[in-house]
Amino acid sequence: MKDRFRIDKSHTEIAAKSTIQKALKFLKTSELEPPYLLIDKAKLKQKVYSIGKNIRNSKVFYAVKANPDIEILKLIKSLGIGFEIASEGELNILSSLGVGREMIISSNPIKSFRFLRMASGCGVSYFAVDSEDEIEKLREYSPNCNVYVRLSVPNEGSEWPLSKKFAVELDEAEELLMHAKKRKLNPVGITFHVGSQCTNIYNWNTALDKAKILWDRAEKRGIRLSMLNIGGGYPIRYTKNVVNITTIEKNVDKLIYEKFPKNTKIFIEPGRAVVGDAGIFVSKVIGKAKRADEDWLYIDVGVFNGLMESVGGIKYSYIVEGSRQNKKWTLAGPSCDSFDVIDKDIFLPEPKVGNILLILSSGAYTISYASEFNGFSIPKTILI
Ligand SMILES: *Cc1c(COP(=O)(O)O)cnc(C)c1O
Repeated sequence: MKDRFRIDKSHTEIAAKSTIQKALKFLKTSELEPPYLLIDKAKLKQKVYSIGKNIRNSKVFYAVKANPDIEILKLIKSLGIGFEIASEGELNILSSLGVGREMIISSNPIKSFRFLRMASGCGVSYFAVDSEDEIEKLREYSPNCNVYVRLSVPNEGSEWPLSKKFAVELDEAEELLMHAKKRKLNPVGITFHVGSQCTNIYNWNTALDKAKILWDRAEKRGIRLSMLNIGGGYPIRYTKNVVNITTIEKNVDKLIYEKFPKNTKIFIEPGRAVVGDAGIFVSKVIGKAKRADEDWLYIDVGVFNGLMESVGGIKYSYIVEGSRQNKKWTLAGPSCDSFDVIDKDIFLPEPKVGNILLILSSGAYTISYASEFNGFSIPKTILI
């Protein structure tokens, strides 16, 4: 008897039912061999329209590193939002799509020389800084550009904290704004990142309090800032419900309105929240084994060719074509490396080798991290 996909509430509470149904319909009609990543265009559009909606005076820049697939970027461009980039590769794709310079910012605090050269050639004029050396680099490559300082803020409760590699504390941030001005750059604002997949709404409160202190200190020193870039961090559902974007934005908007001048320009840089839950990975079960007491399931997408975030703590939800009864599994990828283990102690129906396994909410930080390690090619992305 042919196995079936058993869709229940535990799945539709994670990914939209319409997204799952579209993926299943694609599977029925397509001959394409897995693994591949499906992106639901309607879901992505809905996310783009919802982000920034509840923050006054805001402008949205999609963080390209979450998924730089060219068809996705085309779609996002057509929706009228901007892009946040870090490298010449990302800038190259956007240039090939004819994205205007006013739609591009770079919030990478430490930029490569090659990127700076190209960005200044393309007229990109908004850059994050968090060191004096970076200000010197910008002075050389993009004199008179706009800079915003990356302020250190708590990343508690974010599943992918980013706080240590970048950002400075208040005193240093204040001096950097002064230094930028002295070097004839245009210090326009402040940025922070609360951490990726941030499910703790208070991180934004703390961050905004701190940004306000810096804003006032700059003003006292003769620098009138005009822009606040609240970074990314909006969460999506992987295995459980999370605080929704509307709630986060209403809270953020209220705090900004209370604390900052009314004409403050707000930038938002969502990555994960734009593409994450629009994506479903389609993979095939390529093996099963019992090792010691564990039941192992091997699929054709793993840590190296798409599921890198699983080793950093992101857990996914799965739908598998299989029997009625759930069993406890260890889920592993296809490579010959023992690091390539995606998940442990997950309960799933038992599939046959050759059956399909879907990975929900997998549109962000999957393909963009993928390598061809061990000869497994990077899965294709298909918009549906
Ligand atoms: C990665 C990144 C983002 C996007 O973060 P998400 O958590 O995916 O929303 C935004 N801004 C900067 C500077 C980043 O590095």
